[in-house]
Amino acid sequence: MKNIFYKFFQGRYGAYGADKLTKFILFIAAILLLLSYITPVGILYYVSFILLIYCYFRLFSKNIPMRYKENETFVKHADKFLNLFGDLKYNISQRKIYHIYKCPECKQKIRIPRGKGKIEVRCPKCGKTFIKHS
Ligand SMILES: [Zn+2]
Repeated sequence: MKNIFYKFFQGRYGAYGADKLTKFILFIAAILLLLSYITPVGILYYVSFILLIYCYFRLFSKNIPMRYKENETFVKHADKFLNLFGDLKYNISQRKIYHIYKCPECKQKIRIPRGKGKIEVRCPKCGKTFIKHS
């Protein structure tokens, strides 16, 4: 039985397991399926089903270079997206430490550490000074 299974997968893209793109699509399909149950948006069920079929198509595909390329493209974009998310997280953590003020004169954004009380801020761009509580 194991032999038949092995032979069936031989020369197919999924022979070495699901790649990141397939796993990602499966994940999205699972979420859509869940959403289709808890929301009245019935079409999500069909979208989820189509995504599932696409996953099978990729796993059983014999065009390995093409599938490989698709995954590479996906990983590249996913990394970019994750980096963006990382930047956002960084900005949020910065906001806990700093206040971001705008210069009343030139609208330049100025970062001031929190908890310093009343301070005079000097805009590095136009030289305007103003008082802020941090
Ligand atoms: Zn300024």
